[in-house]
Amino acid sequence: MVLQPGYGIASGTPHLEPHSGPCQMCPELPCIGACPSGALRPIPLEQVRIGIARLDPARCIAFHGQDCHVCLDVCPLPGKAIAIEAGRPAILDARCTGCGVCSFACVAQPTAIRIEKL
Ligand code: SF4
Ligand code: SF4
Repeated sequence: MVLQPGYGIASGTPHLEPHSGPCQMCPELPCIGACPSGALRPIPLEQVRIGIARLDPARCIAFHGQDCHVCLDVCPLPGKAIAIEAGRPAILDARCTGCGVCSFACVAQPTAIRIEKL
């Protein structure tokens, strides 16, 4: 167990590092059944709230004249959690699970999407 300053009572519990490995939002969410303590409640995939994606227009190439929608293509909830509006991505806060797949797949270096804690 690694204690992490700044995480409060969550220190030492599992956490995601989206830049190196996001939650893949696997069908049926097998992590819930695998958890030995029952700490993960069985809920529909669309109700998962790990965090929330935040887009930085300064880094996103779609805001600078290039055609890109990789983040939309990889999102487990395309059109619900993220959409393309006038050629640019927009995070739809109410449905974003915070899985981090978009952040991991973003073609910008560094990524134009970070996952914010709820
Ligand atoms: S917008 Fe990003 S963080 Fe939110 S559900 Fe889609 S891939 Fe996951
Ligand atoms: S993948 Fe990254 S650079 Fe491409 S549109 Fe999405 S946020 Fe912008």
